[in-house]
Amino acid sequence: MKVVIPYSGSGTNGAYALWKFLSETDHEVFALHMNVAWRPDDERLHERTQFDKGVAWLKANTRDFDVAYKNCSNRFDFPDIPLRPNFKTMVGISKMSSVWQMAIDHAVEVGADAVATGTSAESTATDRTVVMQKKTFWSSERNPTDIKVFWPCWSMTEAVTEDLWPRVCSEITGRWLQRELLPEGLRNIVMECKCKGETVGCSRCFDFLVHELAEESGAALDERFLKAIHAGKHRDLADPETEMFLNNFKWALAEELGHDVPACFADDSFTQDMNNRAQALYRRVTQAGD
Ligand SMILES: [Zn+2]
Repeated sequence: MKVVIPYSGSGTNGAYALWKFLSETDHEVFALHMNVAWRPDDERLHERTQFDKGVAWLKANTRDFDVAYKNCSNRFDFPDIPLRPNFKTMVGISKMSSVWQMAIDHAVEVGADAVATGTSAESTATDRTVVMQKKTFWSSERNPTDIKVFWPCWSMTEAVTEDLWPRVCSEITGRWLQRELLPEGLRNIVMECKCKGETVGCSRCFDFLVHELAEESGAALDERFLKAIHAGKHRDLADPETEMFLNNFKWALAEELGHDVPACFADDSFTQDMNNRAQALYRRVTQAGD
């Protein structure tokens, strides 16, 4: 099989997808870097740097594969949709659909059979993934050669279809388990925020800190966070009236790191503590890499 894998270099799920296919299959792999038009310049530069580092690491430690660089712009103007049917909060779907459409187009261009995306348990907090896939992968108009879609966080061998969604929601793995499973060299590349702990309240740095500091296993952390954001097996906890996108994520992080929630948000003690810890984390990572 030939498979296209979008990979930013700085996301856990995409790195996991690429590493799994390279190390566990003999499929022909095509890594795709997208220079995404709507993201700030410094993020695009950071992603490009991390992509190149990740590719070099994977080629040295797994096997050779094809690499392509594309510019991705917003091609769609889809109306916003509710988080799930009958939910009050609305979300946009045009940009992410454009990303997936580019992956399909690249798969057609290189003659691939499938695209493997970094869709993870966190993505099951809403139904937008399914709606976006209906408009791209599962649309005969936009995917005329029937390129399959795989979510390696769920299965490496079974393509995802709309009717599998409820089963996928209860079985798909989350980001902390995936990050724990990554080989250390690749994980270090993923866990490099461009701000290096300097941006006050950076949620990416907080996310990495939990990974570093929590005593629990990746699977236990996933369980805790999926419950907090009403995803995976805990989707039923969501309230259609009040549910927000990625509800309570920061609260769960603060609690995990030993803060008193919500009191710690009343002043800047939480963010100050996080910034200090994040800067210490990057000092450690930099020293380890020297
Ligand atoms: Zn950061």
